[in-house]
Amino acid sequence: MRSLYEPEHEALRESVREFIDRHVRPHEEQFIADKAIPREVWLEAGKQGLLGLQVPEEYGGGGVGHDYRFTAVVGEEAGAFSTALSSCWGIHADINAPYLTKLTTEEQRQRWLPRYCTGELWTAIGMTEPSGGSDLAALRTTAVRDGDDWILNGSKTFITNGYSADLVIVAARTDPSKGARGISLFGVEAGMEGFSRGRKLDKVGQPESDTAELFFENVRVPHANLIGQEGQGFIHMMQHLPQERIGNAISTLALARSILAETVQYAKDRKAFGQSIGTFQHNKFLLAELTTKVEVTQAYVDQCIVAHTAGRLTPVDAAKAKWWTAQVQSEVLDHCVQLHGGYGYMREYRVARAWMDARVTKIWAGSNEIMKELIGRDLGL
Ligand SMILES: Cc1cc2nc3c(=O)[nH]c(=O)nc-3n(C[C@H](O)[C@H](O)[C@H](O)COP(=O)(O)OP(=O)(O)OC[C@H]3O[C@@H](n4cnc5c(N)ncnc54)[C@H](O)[C@@H]3O)c2cc1C
Repeated sequence: MRSLYEPEHEALRESVREFIDRHVRPHEEQFIADKAIPREVWLEAGKQGLLGLQVPEEYGGGGVGHDYRFTAVVGEEAGAFSTALSSCWGIHADINAPYLTKLTTEEQRQRWLPRYCTGELWTAIGMTEPSGGSDLAALRTTAVRDGDDWILNGSKTFITNGYSADLVIVAARTDPSKGARGISLFGVEAGMEGFSRGRKLDKVGQPESDTAELFFENVRVPHANLIGQEGQGFIHMMQHLPQERIGNAISTLALARSILAETVQYAKDRKAFGQSIGTFQHNKFLLAELTTKVEVTQAYVDQCIVAHTAGRLTPVDAAKAKWWTAQVQSEVLDHCVQLHGGYGYMREYRVARAWMDARVTKIWAGSNEIMKELIGRDLGL
């Protein structure tokens, strides 16, 4: 009964499904073994116009940045497939898009966007540091002006796409005396002297996603790579967090939906004591409850997608969608593992992988506690 999508969004959904079925699904085991989704996948996505939806056509994009429903469809399909696919794709094509289209100069757009759309210029965003991610305003990486350049020093951690990115949007402190108003954003490019990456981090789940530490040691970044206004970096990040959070909510819920549907089928097929395990009243009621929870949550997320498309999504409503979908996903996946019995604990089963991969959704992009803090403040508390 979802009513937010038009035929053109559903046509894009079909293309995304076909892309995943052809270029991702058959190679998933290899990606997991290699601990990487190779660049060819993104180049193919670029060829099919699936990376630059939010980028104006004049720079090689799809020119549908005004209608977030197109991006939402990609997030739903990638999210339903896996957390790794949706996070790597989403950071590049969704989260970073407004930074690179709305905050950039004409020269930067000409320089970066055409290759961003093709996947030749793969991107990451570095906010979190080893000393902390929740308290962004306390970040320690510094950038000091030196003539036409800035000299960057510091480090970032847990950066999605960090290992393979050609361009990283890096938040750094440019005026230590001004707190949150002394932070600026820079485009740090692969190959800049003093910019190095640590190992790919060994995560509990999503082995195929690229998550890395980044180090900056006297990196000379040209002033021409300053993104947005000097000293406004924190505000720029806050302005774009609603999109990051609704994007997260969309793919988080999509994975829960997809695994729940598979589990309902499993509960019909699997027999114990001479009957389908789904017909035991406990399991039947459980599946009824989980289905209700997912559908009611979907209605709220859909409302947020419509609001974001109209430019009306508030940071607080996006925070509600972000933490609630993570909570629902966690409950759904844990019950789905249980309903699969021993098979639910085997990595070769999608349900087991989904459960391991998804543990992060209550932590990243603003933890559930931080989301509740924002909502609580909005209540005047
Ligand atoms: C797989 C993965 C990918 C990621 N990708 C990126 C990326 O691409 N770019 C990026 O910049 N970051 C990324 N992150 C970082 C992520 O956003 C941070 O881990 C997250 O913001 C939490 O920061 P932290 O880990 O430093 O925890 P901390 O900030 O140290 O928090 C620790 C605990 O304290 C709680 N806490 C903190 N403050 C409060 C408070 N005021 N009230 C109540 N509880 C509080 C937190 O909720 C958490 O439970 C990624 C993380 C992971 C795991």
